[in-house]
Amino acid sequence: MVKLKVKDVIFGYSGTNILENVCFELGASELVSIVGPNGAGKSTLLKCIDRILTPKTGCVSVEEKDLREMGRLEVAKTLSYVPQSTVRVFPSTVFDTVLMGRRPHLSWFSGEKDKEKVWQVLELLGIEALALSSFNELSGGQQQKVLIARALVQETGVMLLDEPTSNLDIWHQLDVMEVVKKLVREKKVTGLMAVHDLNLASKYSDRIIMMKNGKIVAIGSPAQVLTSENIAAVYGVEADVSIQAKIPYVVPLKQLEAF
Ligand code: ADP
Ligand code: MG
Repeated sequence: MVKLKVKDVIFGYSGTNILENVCFELGASELVSIVGPNGAGKSTLLKCIDRILTPKTGCVSVEEKDLREMGRLEVAKTLSYVPQSTVRVFPSTVFDTVLMGRRPHLSWFSGEKDKEKVWQVLELLGIEALALSSFNELSGGQQQKVLIARALVQETGVMLLDEPTSNLDIWHQLDVMEVVKKLVREKKVTGLMAVHDLNLASKYSDRIIMMKNGKIVAIGSPAQVLTSENIAAVYGVEADVSIQAKIPYVVPLKQLEAF
């Protein structure tokens, strides 16, 4: 079953197009990574899907419902978005930061049911002990989990994540990826995330979308997409790719000249 469908999306910030005819479909309970060099258009694509940006043309639909026909509230009940983590200031506790994610579902006050859902999600992510801590005083890895928790209490079928593991040490990279994988498996969420690290994308993704200059150049299983040829063409880097237990591992060797 097709959960998320992106069809012929074109977008430009000003005159020139940044995204060119982007088309793909994601199934239910699928975890897909978008990889590609800086400036390829990964963040722009995620924002167009979440309608933070409005595509010039093209259609994004979830379960065959066109997002252009939804109000902001309905979009927020359909898709959640975890922005790229920069220094972020939420002058509130972890609990209240996560509760903000319930906003699309709230009437004018938050009920016990909403608070209960926040506790459930904090528990699921193993951060309930941080509930009363100040968000601003957490480490990067903890903040990232709180932002994922905030998206999760939105209870949407599709979750978009923009580089959820950048700025994290390798323990926290695996920790955050395990959490995302768990959500996809247990909550049947469809996950689409921009990822820089090819080996993390390889290890955790059902499929990978590889982008360059606003276009999709390859889409398929990690082994189909992460080939030496594709990496040379898209990144201008010679890389050694070895397959272990069907998962490709990428070792960048050197820059290709005249790329
Ligand atoms: P990625 O996430 O793959 O690194 P982005 O989607 O951030 O790429 O950027 C794609 C292109 O759009 C880049 O050329 C970037 O300079 C440009 N761009 C990104 N944000 C803006 C903006 N707010 N205004 C104008 N151009 C932008
Ligand atoms: Mg980006």
